[in-house]
Amino acid sequence: MSKRQNISILGSTGSIGQSTLDVVARHPERFAVFALTAQSNWQDLLKQCLECEPTYAVLINESAAKHLREALKAKQSTTEVLVGAAALNEVVAAAEVDCVMAAIVGAAGLLPTLAAAAAGKRILLANKEALVMSGQLFMDTAARSGAQVLPVDSEHNAIFQSLPESIQRAQGTLALQDFGVQKILLTGSGGPFRELPLSDLDQQSPQAACAHPNWSMGQKISVDSATMLNKGLEYIEARWLFNCQRHELEVLLHPQSVIHSMVQYTDGSVLAQLGQPDMRTPIAHVLSYPERIKSGVDPLDFATMGALTFAQPEPERYPCLQLAMDACWEGQAASTALNAANEVAVAAFLAEQIPFTAISAVCTHVLEQPRISVVDELAAILACDQDARRQAQHFIGTRW
Ligand code: NAD
Ligand code: MG
Repeated sequence: MSKRQNISILGSTGSIGQSTLDVVARHPERFAVFALTAQSNWQDLLKQCLECEPTYAVLINESAAKHLREALKAKQSTTEVLVGAAALNEVVAAAEVDCVMAAIVGAAGLLPTLAAAAAGKRILLANKEALVMSGQLFMDTAARSGAQVLPVDSEHNAIFQSLPESIQRAQGTLALQDFGVQKILLTGSGGPFRELPLSDLDQQSPQAACAHPNWSMGQKISVDSATMLNKGLEYIEARWLFNCQRHELEVLLHPQSVIHSMVQYTDGSVLAQLGQPDMRTPIAHVLSYPERIKSGVDPLDFATMGALTFAQPEPERYPCLQLAMDACWEGQAASTALNAANEVAVAAFLAEQIPFTAISAVCTHVLEQPRISVVDELAAILACDQDARRQAQHFIGTRW
């Protein structure tokens, strides 16, 4: 590769952001950091800025930005600090940027990720909520500008790696069956409560929900893994990324998280991607695609791994999964509303305002409310998101 790739990292202080910087730091000849961004954690962003010397650092919180600016000045850093959500759009769309790691958590990532899509950047997509909220709009925006969308989510990265190259290049526009693909098998561990008696679910603390057996992740996605709404969001994500029909997409429990997902072909072949549960593998893959680079992840040791097992997810344990699978085929408004309701419910659960089992109750309630049917424009998507948030807040306020 002749020129270094300039990368902007949305959400650099988070779990994915840190793993991205870890891989980037292993290949200084390949990558230069153009911008780092975070919501308010200026202390971690300061350390990252001093290490990577980005052109820009963005914080959403104003007083945090002031602290960062002063601290960088004291260290004679040349990094310029910008503040506010609009600055996120600027640092992804800038002409110097080749590649954007979209790793903000939740709906807050939608606008800057869309800005990267509109600007024709290579998008490394971790922020699944952005795609769940905006589906067709996001894929169309990327197609119009020629932006390449590469999946970071480990399952989608595994599926991507297991699909034929022509489908990889076509960015969700081809029919899977024309390439002999019968089914995509989306695997999930089942989270920390897979074996808990169902009657104990409502007493589970945020701490217990965030203690994922295999992966170390941010709080929101950890709770989503415990409800398996994460798998539901991933189901919707897969539909858009790979242009799946309903009968082409299936969820399978695989508690060991060694197989990260599979593609089943009409001739009986099944292709899978395996690896350690370490996000640096899919991150390194998308950073260097179609080449391969070192990620710092150890190889799998098959001799000591033990048995790999598979099962169907129990519907009573994971009601959120079915909600998401139904919302996926009901239409964009249902997916957008579910994502918003879940964000509100997860935040309330993390703040210990509602029990674990209330997350699915909030999502069910919001999905039962009447909705505008067509949300294919940004303004309508954002209005649908806001309505669902209000409905979820109101429901929580009256019930708990
Ligand atoms: P995290 O909570 O660890 O980090 C979130 C990042 O987003 C932080 O840098 C934070 O400052 C920033 N952020 C939060 N709210 C913001 C706001 N309102 N405006 C601007 N920035 C904001 O989250 P994570 O675990 O790294 O996950 C990030 C995304 O990647 C999520 O969409 C998640 O679903 C997806 N993902 C994560 C993993 C994982 O292993 N952690 C795996 C697959 C997919
Ligand atoms: Mg995943």
